[in-house]
Amino acid sequence: MAKLYFRYGTMDSAKSLNLLAVAHNYRKQGKRVMLMKPRLDVRFGTAKIASRAGLEADADLMIDEDTTLDPRDFAGLDCVLVDEAQFLPPQVIEDLRRITVDPGVPVICYGLRTDFRTRLFPGAQRLMELADRIEEVKVTCQYCAKKAICNLRFVNGTPTVRGPQIQLGADESYAPVCWAHYDEATKHASAEASGAVLRPS
Ligand SMILES: [Zn+2]
Repeated sequence: MAKLYFRYGTMDSAKSLNLLAVAHNYRKQGKRVMLMKPRLDVRFGTAKIASRAGLEADADLMIDEDTTLDPRDFAGLDCVLVDEAQFLPPQVIEDLRRITVDPGVPVICYGLRTDFRTRLFPGAQRLMELADRIEEVKVTCQYCAKKAICNLRFVNGTPTVRGPQIQLGADESYAPVCWAHYDEATKHASAEASGAVLRPS
C-alpha cells in the first residue's frame, strides 16, 4: 500500500514549485507521473500548473464536481501529484485514497489548509482526515519573521473578510500572514465602517 500525502501551506509558500520539482525529478528518472488540478483554477490558463517562480507544466487531468476516478487508469504510474487540492471535491479525495491501495500508487496533494476566514476548505478537511502524512510547506509572514499560517485577502488594497470562499481571478490579492497580523488586519476590516485605521507594527 502506498501513502497519501497532504502538503499544505499558505499562499506564496511555493507549493506549486515544490510539486513541479517533484514531477521533474520523477520524469528525469524515466518514471511515470500524473498531474492533476481542479478545473475551477483558471489563473494560469486551464491546463497549466504554474509557479510564481516561472516553472510550469500541463495538467494531465482536470477535476470537477462530477469527476470519478477509475483505479484502472492509474495502474503503472509511479506517482500522482495534485495541485490546489483544497478545491477538490471530498469524494475525489476518497477516490485518491483508494488508488494508494489498488493499484498502490503514492498520491501527493498540495494545497491551502484554510480560506481567508481561517476556515478549512472542504478538500483540505478530507485530506486532513485521510492522509498518512501531513506536512507543512512553510513561509514567513508578510509583516514579520514569524511563520505564516493565515491567508489575508485584500480587495483594492484593503484587508477584508467578506466575499465568497472561492473567487479566483477577481480584483483581489492575498498575503501569507501570522495569526497576530491576521487578527490585527481583520479586526480592522470589521471596524472599517467606524473609521479605524490599520497600522502594521
Ligand atoms: Zn506577522
